[in-house]
Amino acid sequence: MTSLPHNNIVAFRGPIVLPDRVLPKGLVICLGDRIAEVRAATSRIPKGARTILDAPDGGCIAPGFVDIHVHGGAGADYMDGTPEAVRTANRAHLRHGTTTVFPTTTTGSPAQIERMLDACLGVKKNWQPGDDGARIAGVHLYGPYFAETKVGCHAVEGRRDPASRSEYERYFKTGIVKIATCAAELPGAAAFYRAAKKHDCLVTCGHSEASWTDMQRAFDAGMRHVDHFWCAMSSVPSLRARHGTPMQASMAEFVLANPEMSTEVIADGQHLSKELLEFAWRMKGASRLCLVTDANRAMGMPPGRYRFGPIEDGSWFESNGKVGFVPGSGLASSVVALDTMVRHMSKSTNAPLEEVIRMASLTPAERAGIAGDTGSLEAGKRADILVLDSRLKVQSVYVSGRSNPSLKLSC
Ligand SMILES: [Zn+2]
Ligand SMILES: [Zn+2]
Repeated sequence: MTSLPHNNIVAFRGPIVLPDRVLPKGLVICLGDRIAEVRAATSRIPKGARTILDAPDGGCIAPGFVDIHVHGGAGADYMDGTPEAVRTANRAHLRHGTTTVFPTTTTGSPAQIERMLDACLGVKKNWQPGDDGARIAGVHLYGPYFAETKVGCHAVEGRRDPASRSEYERYFKTGIVKIATCAAELPGAAAFYRAAKKHDCLVTCGHSEASWTDMQRAFDAGMRHVDHFWCAMSSVPSLRARHGTPMQASMAEFVLANPEMSTEVIADGQHLSKELLEFAWRMKGASRLCLVTDANRAMGMPPGRYRFGPIEDGSWFESNGKVGFVPGSGLASSVVALDTMVRHMSKSTNAPLEEVIRMASLTPAERAGIAGDTGSLEAGKRADILVLDSRLKVQSVYVSGRSNPSLKLSC
């Protein structure tokens, strides 16, 4: 490494969380925005390293988190559609260890969705590590193609069938959509999935009443993932209520029976019990289960009343500081960040630390097609790195090799 510009070297020292194990004493050497080397700590730190960060006692060095399903934070929803809102949410998530985000649309008009895509494109193009918060790797086109009976807290006026090919082709042509959701049973779903696949998206089914038959058709068209398992999805009883007997297999059985299918859980301790989190991990394994926040604008904000989706006409929900909810109706997505999910998953299940971290970093990166660039501590990848303490609280965040001292950590 003698020819390397030494003032650009940052070294992280301590237990290193790799995708399949923890290296008890290791070093991660970064040069500029990339990881140059991961090795045992017995070797020397390159002379002249600008910064050396040691994991605190009982803590560790982990890859930055990747959130493939996130609506906003710190008062901003990505659907507000301004660069300021996008940056505000990205900064809020970076503070909690998320270095890569896929801003996620809600239901809304075509104009609102286009405005959101434009804002994300602008922020992505001009992004600088540090002040701009988490890096946008792509957008998750989530709403508007939901089942009418499964919109959850999304405004029902903004949902529709994927009937207009020109509408979604416009979204795909921006090049920023990398994850695409549609309820599998809607008319036009197969054409939508094929278009999404053509644009290299992770193709997913969510907010849906799909049966096994619908799921198989979707799978054949490229669908490989289901959004927030057990939330806003079909079940054997829900299909029985709609279609009678013989009872039919649902989205849940399809995901559990197909090794190719991945899914995600909102592990905030409010949406799903510990047993369900344990079950999801045991059934799908760490390489097919993602931790997502599904966080809305109330994340990092005091309890109160907020809009889900666009600031001008999104539906109202309440936050009690632990979760979002619509009084008398149900939950309205989460209000905590991915570090909270990681701590909860670690405390509540038998999943070892490396698997919990994998579910918040490499697995979502692999599913979204960005694992060559980020998601684990490996030479050549971005220097997206966290220092975590013994309770898995975030001590330092590096994104593309840069820390941001102005980001006050408040985990
Ligand atoms: Zn949802
Ligand atoms: Zn969501």
